[in-house]
Amino acid sequence: MTDLQPVRGTRDLIGDEQRRHHHVIETARRIAAAYGFDEWATPVFENTAVFARTLGETSDVVTKEMYTFEDRGGDSITLRPEGTAGVCRALVSNGLTQSLPQKVFYAGPMFRYERPQKGRYRQFHQIGIELIGPSEPLADAEVIACGHHILEALGVARLAVLEINTLGDRESRQAYRDALIGYFSARRSALSEDSQARLERNPLRILDSKDADDIAIVAEAPTIMDFLTPEAAGFYDALRRHLDSFGVPYRENARIVRGLDYYGHTAFEFVTDALGAQGTVMGGGRYDGLVAEMGGPHTPAVGWAAGIERLAMLLDEAPAAPATVVIVPVDDSVEPVAITTLQSLRRAGIRTEMAYRGNLRRRLERANRTGARAAIILGPDDVADGTAQLKDLATGTQEAVRLDRLADRLK
Ligand code: ATP
Ligand code: MG
Repeated sequence: MTDLQPVRGTRDLIGDEQRRHHHVIETARRIAAAYGFDEWATPVFENTAVFARTLGETSDVVTKEMYTFEDRGGDSITLRPEGTAGVCRALVSNGLTQSLPQKVFYAGPMFRYERPQKGRYRQFHQIGIELIGPSEPLADAEVIACGHHILEALGVARLAVLEINTLGDRESRQAYRDALIGYFSARRSALSEDSQARLERNPLRILDSKDADDIAIVAEAPTIMDFLTPEAAGFYDALRRHLDSFGVPYRENARIVRGLDYYGHTAFEFVTDALGAQGTVMGGGRYDGLVAEMGGPHTPAVGWAAGIERLAMLLDEAPAAPATVVIVPVDDSVEPVAITTLQSLRRAGIRTEMAYRGNLRRRLERANRTGARAAIILGPDDVADGTAQLKDLATGTQEAVRLDRLADRLK
């Protein structure tokens, strides 16, 4: 492998791939806007502490997946592995913690050192929303409804199932954590090495393990439902009720814990079996503790992130490539008119290009080959009359059209 190859796990987005990618972002941006979310763009790199302190020192992302390096000034910098920590850092840095709610949409590249495979890359892209401020379960339901709405608009909702769970409040989690430590300790030697390491520090994380032996043990583990305080159970009831009101179908799955440490109450994922092993397309939950971790006041928040590549793969077909109109000057004498016509069509918003090379037949052949929808043939006689020949390249029909009528005809 030479140094001039793309880095393992990175991809160039070109043609259909880029059109799919763009369609996912544009659709999400439009729908998030209808829900009142504003777009933020935070830097793709942050001080390492922004992620290391807040994502949880035991999370896979922090222990194995971060792109961390020392910059020339000796500071430890990390390429963002996800979007939420940066948004919360920005909330605090910009003094917005007293201007709540903040409803944030973002889209952009994320970086994780993972084993690349279909739907799993080292540079990938996410869209996400964060609703910062409200502590009511209605906010959780609304955030989920927005995600579901985006999947519907992309035409992929039928391929994905929403799975929800609750992680309870601090008290519920503490009781559940103790129960899990008891349960898993008794089976310690059968657990994977990773899960043994998680046992003391973050036993909930074991529920998320993809190891086959772990999965069998997890299947019999206690679930959080038996440890919820009345408040936490009430929150979860309200979430389900609101999801019903929004008309968003869901399935409960007590194994959903999310990979990151700052979640409480709601946890959810949209999963699909259409993508093989990489089945989670969107995941999120409530993270009331994160803004305080970032040095701000206690601030409730709920959000999700979705992988653009995985959504793009689920799209039925790529959006059609835009069709061009080609201007074909017959000889040099009409070039000035060709250029004026070219620019006036472009100003009218019509995708138009000039055929530069070869004789008339060559230029038309080339226009056909590149999938142009129409050709405007400019000969000296037409131009003297203030007209052009408009040729429909799909049907082959041709007619004379006044130059000042071209834009209207092509719209
Ligand atoms: P997974 O279990 O697939 O590793 P995750 O729990 O690490 O997912 P999150 O951190 O919740 O994922 O990120 C949200 C979404 O971002 C995922 O559901 C997925 O669609 C996408 N995603 C995460 N990691 C990658 C990656 N390496 N390549 C492509 N998409 C990714
Ligand atoms: Mg992961």
